[in-house]
Amino acid sequence: MIRFGPAGIPIGTPGKAGTAEGIAYCREIGLGAMEVEFVHGVKMGEPAARAAGEVARKSDVLLSCHAPYYINCCAKEELKIAGSVRHIVATAQAAFWLGATPIVIHPGFYMGRPAVECRKMVISTFQRCLDEMARLKINGVQLGAELTGKKSAYGSLDEIIGLGEEFGLKQVVPVIDFAHYHAREGRLKTQEDYARVLEKVEKRLGSEAAHNFHCHFSGIEVIEAGEKNHLPISSLSPPFEPLAAAWVENGWSGKAICESPLIEKDALAMQAIYKKAGRN
Ligand SMILES: [Zn+2]
Repeated sequence: MIRFGPAGIPIGTPGKAGTAEGIAYCREIGLGAMEVEFVHGVKMGEPAARAAGEVARKSDVLLSCHAPYYINCCAKEELKIAGSVRHIVATAQAAFWLGATPIVIHPGFYMGRPAVECRKMVISTFQRCLDEMARLKINGVQLGAELTGKKSAYGSLDEIIGLGEEFGLKQVVPVIDFAHYHAREGRLKTQEDYARVLEKVEKRLGSEAAHNFHCHFSGIEVIEAGEKNHLPISSLSPPFEPLAAAWVENGWSGKAICESPLIEKDALAMQAIYKKAGRN
């Protein structure tokens, strides 16, 4: 089974529309997941996070978080690395209070350096985060290495799978953003295109990666450098239907977060397409 949810508080959430209200609204409209967005910083304190986590448990909505955008785990300056560790650990702390996993991270930027050099740095920075999380007794929160949309960013499919291999899935999971894959690695059109991606993940990380995955989906506007803008799924760029069919065929389960501009409407549309694929 795959759960679907919006990247952030649903647009249609009535009233005060905080995180807790957004989670309750997800359940009301029939969605079983939501990503809490800390992309501009972690500003949620312990009481609010624990209260929202309680609503999620009662409503059976699975939570994940998105760490700030300005993280760079392979920055050239130690000051920036230390700042990235701080932002990741702050996100992990909030996720722990929320009962959320994974925390989705854009690993970093090559800035002209070879991928192997960046890989070493990302691994060392992730390890610093995991050590600090252990010291703070933040348990059960995985780091989610996102497949990034710009060719200048560390985070190709091979690179994020590599991070999962390095640490094991209990600590680091790859988060495939299919729109980003479409923008930077190769156009996704058919069920076979998607199945190739799924099979690569499963071959290298084992069936656990297939049975409890976390991913992002939306349409996307592509330029030479990779991604430009996220688009509604009606753009069919890439199409969602063949992915739903590949998930059913390959027996995948987990969570899919919708990052289209119509976060909850398109999450519902994706859920409907997935259910239909399961009946075929
Ligand atoms: Zn992201």
